[in-house]
Amino acid sequence: MSAVSFSSADYVLGLQCLAALWLKKRRPGSAAKGGQAGYWQGDGLKEIAYFKGAARVEAPPWTPEAAEETAELAQAGRRAISQAAAVTPKGDFAAADFLKPRPQGGFDLFAIRAGATVKEHHYLPLAFQYHIFSSRYSIERVFILRLNPGYVRLGEIEPRKMFRKTEVTAVVKEMAAGIPRRLAAWRRTLARNTPPKAGPNQHCKPCLYRGGCWPAEREIPDYSLFSVLSPEKAEAIYKKHKTADLRELPALPLSLQKRDEVECWREGGLIKKPKEIRAFLQQLRWPLYFLDYETIAPAVPLFEGARPLEQIPFQFSLYIQERPGGRTSHQGYLHQKIGDPRPALTKSLLAAIGRTGSIIVYNRNFEKSCHENLAEASPGQARALLALNGRLVDLFLPFQKRILYSHLQAGSASLKKVCLAFFGRKYEALEIGNGAEASTSYLAFQRGALNKGEQKKLFSNLKAYCGLDTQVMVDLVKVLEKHAS
Ligand code: SF4
Repeated sequence: MSAVSFSSADYVLGLQCLAALWLKKRRPGSAAKGGQAGYWQGDGLKEIAYFKGAARVEAPPWTPEAAEETAELAQAGRRAISQAAAVTPKGDFAAADFLKPRPQGGFDLFAIRAGATVKEHHYLPLAFQYHIFSSRYSIERVFILRLNPGYVRLGEIEPRKMFRKTEVTAVVKEMAAGIPRRLAAWRRTLARNTPPKAGPNQHCKPCLYRGGCWPAEREIPDYSLFSVLSPEKAEAIYKKHKTADLRELPALPLSLQKRDEVECWREGGLIKKPKEIRAFLQQLRWPLYFLDYETIAPAVPLFEGARPLEQIPFQFSLYIQERPGGRTSHQGYLHQKIGDPRPALTKSLLAAIGRTGSIIVYNRNFEKSCHENLAEASPGQARALLALNGRLVDLFLPFQKRILYSHLQAGSASLKKVCLAFFGRKYEALEIGNGAEASTSYLAFQRGALNKGEQKKLFSNLKAYCGLDTQVMVDLVKVLEKHAS
């Protein structure tokens, strides 16, 4: 086996599960396809010129050339270096968003994060970066540049206003202290021809190496200990009882709702509370409007007046049912031009949605914030848009609160799971569809990165996908009606 080298992604993976790291390095073919789509909502962040006149490393990231170029730039001047890289003598490597020389000597490291707050998981890759860069440079301070949620784009992006700077030197230094010993131990483990023993843990569900890790595949059923308890609690119980199968475990410390849910799963049955279902249905006011939005939330605001990570609706689908038992009609809007979708979408929505009647949505908070964001963008229509929030009825709640619950939901109240539980394969396209992917592709379109053929395909997928969500909601109200007595 050739010498192993580690990146920050490897480091985080190894901390989560050493077996996963072994599989990544020794059997790279065992990884399932997945992970980050090519284009994401944070694209463009790294291009922001936070430091005026920063020198950019042009060599491809993660290469020895990038590390050499960084060293040359660091030696040559006093400018900040963007996309800096460093490699240790053992070949471990890391990249940093900025490496900035300090007037009094030494350097500061900066990492851009596409979030408004500094989270625990930000520290681990930073500690690794600090460890790698410290092997070559004297790193004095480490900072996270996080998005300022209060920033509003007016004209050109103003990087100093869009980011907030947080110093994390102390915690990062402390976390980095154990890295050399840990990497040495990992090298020994990775040199073995069999993967280290790793019982199922909180990282197994999304693990890309699950297919190559037969014990986890066999021991964690789809609905398991890990579905009913927090990852940490579930992991502790698994370690004690050596099984994740709910049929084999003794009574667990579950809430009343979770206990009912597990019972329902054991019996392969249905929970239904007709009185509560009737109370839900009685709040509906006719005509009914079934509404769903597709949105983008770019980290770098694309449009005037928008904030970082603001949900920007670019499509809506609306089914309208005038009276009980009546037919439904459909209206919708998809913005197919490059540029701000909000004004045209708002006009079309307000023309279609009427002034009275319940607006049925699946997860009210999302639609509520869409209306608030649209209202900010169109002050002239703000009253009408905000009035929509008073008419929202959340269809998610009866399923989430287990007023109506099928064992086939397997602990989830997502539209996909509920749909599968009550309609089987009727809405198969919804099963396959992926809202997040549609959203990132639409963002790529707005950034001018799609050709005509790709645009056509995207628009046709979006029309099919968004319409389907609302159609499912129409049918779910019928399901509730059926179970109301
Ligand atoms: S499935 Fe679980 S135990 Fe197996 S490699 Fe992945 S995280 Fe580790």
